[in-house]
Amino acid sequence: MLTSLMELLSKSLRTLALAALAALLALPACTAQAPPAPTAPHSILDRINAMLAGGKSAWTPEQIAVMERLRDAALTDPYALDQLRHLTDNIGPRLSGSPQAEQAVDYVAAQMRALGAEVTLEKATVPHWVRGLETGELVAWPGQAPGTTQKIVLTALGASVATPPEGLTAEVLVVDNWKQLAALPKDAVKGKILLFNHKFDAELAAEGHGGAAYGGSVVYRGAGPAAGAAAGAAAVLVRSAGGGDYRSPHTGLTGYEKDAPKVPAAAVTSEDADLLKNLTGQGPVKLHLVLTPQTLPDVQSYNVIADWKGTEHPEQVVIVSGHLDSWDLGTGAIDDGAGVVVSMQVIHLLHDLGIHPRRSVRFIAWMSEEEGSEGAAAYMVDHKADVANHIAAIESDLGADHPTGINYAGKPALGGWLRPVAGVLDAIGASSLLSAPGVGEDIGGLTDQGVPSFSPVQDSRFYFNYHHSAADTFDKVDPRHLSENAAIMTVLAYALADSPEPAPR
Ligand SMILES: [Zn+2]
Repeated sequence: MLTSLMELLSKSLRTLALAALAALLALPACTAQAPPAPTAPHSILDRINAMLAGGKSAWTPEQIAVMERLRDAALTDPYALDQLRHLTDNIGPRLSGSPQAEQAVDYVAAQMRALGAEVTLEKATVPHWVRGLETGELVAWPGQAPGTTQKIVLTALGASVATPPEGLTAEVLVVDNWKQLAALPKDAVKGKILLFNHKFDAELAAEGHGGAAYGGSVVYRGAGPAAGAAAGAAAVLVRSAGGGDYRSPHTGLTGYEKDAPKVPAAAVTSEDADLLKNLTGQGPVKLHLVLTPQTLPDVQSYNVIADWKGTEHPEQVVIVSGHLDSWDLGTGAIDDGAGVVVSMQVIHLLHDLGIHPRRSVRFIAWMSEEEGSEGAAAYMVDHKADVANHIAAIESDLGADHPTGINYAGKPALGGWLRPVAGVLDAIGASSLLSAPGVGEDIGGLTDQGVPSFSPVQDSRFYFNYHHSAADTFDKVDPRHLSENAAIMTVLAYALADSPEPAPR
């Protein structure tokens, strides 16, 4: 912070500033042959001095020093990385309702108990969908060599119903978007396998707007199967809502209309979507599709809650969180094992450094974010009378690439209020403060009720190349970047939990 401020000053002002600094740091007078420090009130030097002394900051210099200690500890402590390795390599994918999800609940609860946090498992009823066989092969297309088939790489969408066990065979119809679907003649879709071929905007993602690129595509994954079913399709395929060009499909939740027909739904790779678009442009193409997922009865699962009790206001809580469940193709490292372990790191560092803020820091590992956010919904029901005591909520759910600062949702005043915290994070290149309408799926209910909400601003250029795919594995997480995210979570959680006055709301 100081360095950047100094760079802004002109040369002569810099001399003055250095003199003031020398005075501030009580350097021997002989080293300062500079002009006398100015006395006019509100000069830039007064402001620098005020800044160095804490100024109008919500935090004392001692608290800022604690933040710096937490930041530096997060950068060197391997706890978060070790926990992520265990969650992904040892426990594996953590689909809601699965034995691995339950194992992860028990594991994380035990880890938090070992740190002396007060652990509660809060019930949440979650879906139990299980992936089955999933194959696609072209059986007829223009230019086909006699007696051959051609493989189409695909994966069932979460919540998809099954084809008959032997599969179904139908002609493929490709549309690029809703408009093309709406323009089709009546009955054009009937009995066909409808492919929504909406391209993930890789250039938008490459410019750092991964979330926006995903948003443009994910609507087809979410609503395409229901729209196809309504139009009479036999099955629906969507082009994967994600980047990367290693012929790897991206799964994710889809939904059906209540009391309407449901049809099997799968995501094809971007390469296979291109191939289907090309071949259907030449003539009729027939695909044999086998999907045998099962939707089993709902299961009782849990959000893992661990409170690091506050010294003055234990009833007031600052949430640090990520979601514990993951899709099943990979091992849920970037989505969202990373968010869970950087939140665990907050409790771990408060424990190790013996820091007890005024308010409670509440770790939450949310359950079933991927399949409908049932865990978050249960939390909002269980804690509806206690929202006023939720001083702030933080969630990390956009991977663990280099963070550049903090997103905040709430009063505009939060931006100015957080400036001293951003100053602490400047050392890791994470001093930006960005206003956003929402910052996390699981804490969205709290955000809507006026609870100041935060997330790290994460580099989203590469996240959607792996997101919801088989390649979401431990190796995709850069240890340095993970520790930077842990530093943001820890510094911010402490700042919110220990400020004399709660964050503006
Ligand atoms: Zn996620």
